[in-house]
Amino acid sequence: MKFLSLSKELKYFIALTSALFLINNITLLNLVHDTYWFVNKPFFFIAIAILFLTQLIFIAGLNLLIPTFWLFIFLFFSASVFSFFNQSYMTVFDTVMWQNVFETNVGEATDLLSPKLLMYILVLALPFIYFLISNKAIFEKSFKDRLKSRLFIISVSIILVLVGGLIFSKDTYSFIREHKIIRYYQNPSYPLFNLFKQGFMSLAPKKAYKEKAKYANINLENEHKKELIVFVVGETARYDHFTINGYERLTTPHLLNTARLLNFSNVTSCSTSTAISVPCMFSLADSSKFKKGNAPYEQNVLDVAAKAGVDVYWLDNNSDSKHVADRIFYKSYKSKQTNTVCDIECRDVGMIPELETILNQSHKKDVLVVMHQMGSHGPAYFKRYPKEFEHFKPACQSEELAKCSDEEIINAYDNSILYTDFFLKSLIEKLKTYQSNYEVTMIYISDHGESLGEGNVYLHGLPMAIAPESQKHVPMIIWASESSDILYEPSKKLVDREYTHNNVSNLIMRILEIESDVYKEIQPLVVLE
Ligand SMILES: [Zn+2]
Repeated sequence: MKFLSLSKELKYFIALTSALFLINNITLLNLVHDTYWFVNKPFFFIAIAILFLTQLIFIAGLNLLIPTFWLFIFLFFSASVFSFFNQSYMTVFDTVMWQNVFETNVGEATDLLSPKLLMYILVLALPFIYFLISNKAIFEKSFKDRLKSRLFIISVSIILVLVGGLIFSKDTYSFIREHKIIRYYQNPSYPLFNLFKQGFMSLAPKKAYKEKAKYANINLENEHKKELIVFVVGETARYDHFTINGYERLTTPHLLNTARLLNFSNVTSCSTSTAISVPCMFSLADSSKFKKGNAPYEQNVLDVAAKAGVDVYWLDNNSDSKHVADRIFYKSYKSKQTNTVCDIECRDVGMIPELETILNQSHKKDVLVVMHQMGSHGPAYFKRYPKEFEHFKPACQSEELAKCSDEEIINAYDNSILYTDFFLKSLIEKLKTYQSNYEVTMIYISDHGESLGEGNVYLHGLPMAIAPESQKHVPMIIWASESSDILYEPSKKLVDREYTHNNVSNLIMRILEIESDVYKEIQPLVVLE
């Protein structure tokens, strides 16, 4: 038979695929082991065989497009990088994670680079790349021969997967439906599949901007003073690490002593990553129907406020607005040119002085200012606060979390919350000075939470279906000043109800007294005058 003439090349192909699979899938194999080894030994082996064969199909498929030599150079290199993230942070490379990767700025990216990553590449990729270069001649087959050989491999593997899957059909079903998490760590096929998917999605033609609100007007009848809302988009703050939410450590000393705070106890984020949660919370679409691909082209609540005549500003000390502020005033505070409080990085408090300038420009108009915080963005928590806020010690001083104990990681994280507490206090202090001229409200809500080593999971971004509570349960606070329209006592009775990011758009429009047809049919968060 013809394919036998390719046997040496084919053997090398299978050997390389096996090596690639075995050395880069420690996390995957661990998960399969933990799930099946003690309860269902036969399926433990079947699951590994299925995972290997699907990987073989994926790589043989790619090999139809990319010559073998270059394909394996690419696969060994990328798999070693994915291995590092899988093993260090339990990162899942789905399309959302890829979007985050592409939208990350240089500062955040260098936070993640480390000597350990270099070690992974050195040990897991370089020997094989050397092997490939020394044996390059073996892989130089004609496209026709390669096509035959790979189609043969693909057909045989599909048959084997089907046979194994059918014999163990019950286990296979639960493997596919209930143990999804296992497949998320198949390296490098899962990350690469999603990379191609995300690339394909971003190449799709750009859509035209869509107005959703037929009308949006400010009801002037009961407006005594102009409104001033500062909406703080928090970053990576988890609910249970705030003292005001029952945390035993004193991470929020200022909030603890702030009067007229409405502290919501049961708020769930729209997702576990910035790239979705930020556009989702400002979206006029219901969270369950929210599509991040449409968000840049759909009117959001900030657009509605602007349409109603409110002056809307987006101040950003994070990466960017995730397209929420595409049509309104936007200013970045990541550099010394704009931010007055910078040491090793520019601080969230450095956005506060801008309020003065804004209000000088917009006297006679309602004002909505969004402040997008750097907050507790990981893994370099220790960079998220000035030295004098290092209260919990010893604090992890590395972006490589594996170098630190969980206690040190939590210490660094808690210091970043302490700094957020200081930022919110400073903001509230500043806002108090505007009470005589404005109806002032401050809203704070985090975009998602964070895992700090529970179950060996770190950072955030796990798919909502499997994400732990710590990544989804977010802090939300409203400071209703004396001059605000929010009735404090009646509103306090609503703080323990279940809410999500889905409530944000209604909240903003209600406080601004906007009449529009884009309100959602949901429970209000506050009682207004
Ligand atoms: Zn975030």
